[in-house]
Amino acid sequence: MYEDILVPTDGSTGASAALAEAIELAAQFDATVHSLYVVDVASVGAEAGTVDLIESFEQMGEDATEAAATRARDADVEATGSVATGSPHRAILDYVDDQGIDLVVMGTHGRTGLERYLLGSVTEKVVRTADVPVLTVRADEEGGAESDEAADGDAGDEPT
Ligand code: ATP
Ligand code: MN
Repeated sequence: MYEDILVPTDGSTGASAALAEAIELAAQFDATVHSLYVVDVASVGAEAGTVDLIESFEQMGEDATEAAATRARDADVEATGSVATGSPHRAILDYVDDQGIDLVVMGTHGRTGLERYLLGSVTEKVVRTADVPVLTVRADEEGGAESDEAADGDAGDEPT
């Protein structure tokens, strides 16, 4: 059903949660996971040092997408990683067209947004305009009840 699944990543926990979901789907469908990081050149500006800054974002993107591909391969899923430049939602949609992507899996939120918004702006634009299905994944909240449970401990053979 799905052969090529795109997971746009910005290195956030939201993108990481999306990757976990994408890897499970890809394993089911014997699909390839494509990890893509977009260097948002407009957000970098045009002052002195811009070239260095873009290069460091590219390096970060290469590290992030390579780590994502490695995570997929560790789960016996075929994977690729790439870095693009431009406006993130446009670069994502271009990649969908160019690579014949049939499903996009992405975080509801990313690095920069406020959690109170329903959806991050990149995800919102992709959901609204992509020609293929888009699965959005919300990252679990950090912490949670687990530590409380651990604190309660295993009471064992406590008399009743
Ligand atoms: P904001 O609208 O302020 O950016 P946000 O950062 O919380 O808010 P998004 O940027 O829409 O929300 O991030 C949601 C998802 O979009 C991320 O989890 C990731 O999957 C994807 N994404 C965001 N930015 C990029 C990027 N530069 N390259 C690739 N994927 C991205
Ligand atoms: Mn963002």
